[in-house]
Amino acid sequence: MTPIQSLKILREQLSQRKTANLSIGFVPTLGALHEGHMSLIKQANEQCDVTVCSIFLNPTQFDEKSDFDKYPKPLEKDLQLLQENDCTICFTPSIAEVYPQGQFLDKPYELGRVEHILEGSTRPGHYQGVAQVVHRLLEMVSPDVLFLGQKDFQQVKIIEQMIQQEQLAVRVQMCPIIREEDGLAMSSRNVRLTEKERAIANELFLTLQKCKEHHHRFTVKELQQWAVASLNANPLIEVDYIEFFDAETFVPVHTINKNSTVVVLGAIFLGSIRLIDNVII
Ligand code: AMP
Repeated sequence: MTPIQSLKILREQLSQRKTANLSIGFVPTLGALHEGHMSLIKQANEQCDVTVCSIFLNPTQFDEKSDFDKYPKPLEKDLQLLQENDCTICFTPSIAEVYPQGQFLDKPYELGRVEHILEGSTRPGHYQGVAQVVHRLLEMVSPDVLFLGQKDFQQVKIIEQMIQQEQLAVRVQMCPIIREEDGLAMSSRNVRLTEKERAIANELFLTLQKCKEHHHRFTVKELQQWAVASLNANPLIEVDYIEFFDAETFVPVHTINKNSTVVVLGAIFLGSIRLIDNVII
């Protein structure tokens, strides 16, 4: 598969297809692709005529330069995976192509309280960068459907907010989390775990899953306290947060009742690697 780097060529290729009334599905990624990303490509192939995947390591969403620098970049392998999974177009723009006017945001997005909680509380500017790059990529690709992973649940809420604010005509499709056999959510960062860290990395998922199983018997507070304590009991793990939110409104919940859908979200440090996961209850 030959990636397209220039916006001009992308537009030429897409305009022919749009004239033929073909629907476009879009999967934005940072690269270092795995089966989780491929599940989005497969959903896009099922729901749309044309699937565009972007690989763009966006500097504006990384609060730590070292994280940006260390991010794996196996482009050849990524292209092969996309080809095997029948992706139509792979777009790999340069930073200058994405940000011809520079990376600075003239006016911040109004992302509301969701911007500054959970992932946003420890990563200042992260969600402004996410909103900025997805907005820009949507302008470039103009898809009918945007495919996003539940793995980054808070990110889906942020992008939905940006789309509403900017009044963009695109439908968002959230796709389920793809996991390793032991339950660990697939992530491009998992390759950076040491053997010891990898062996216990599924503890986050197992703990969130237990919260789901036992939510009838305990209060949210009890579940949260138990989850934090049992994860922190492992000397390699340091919990950042375990929180329960309404999956629709993304407001914190104190009780779980039958009429609402709740999502329990967690983040842990394993050495220098930060892992996130969530389970819908
Ligand atoms: P990233 O390259 O990490 O920005 O991810 C690109 C897209 O793939 C995002 O919408 C992610 O939520 C999604 N994604 C990443 N990991 C997974 C996974 N394990 N299962 C499903 N979707 C995922």
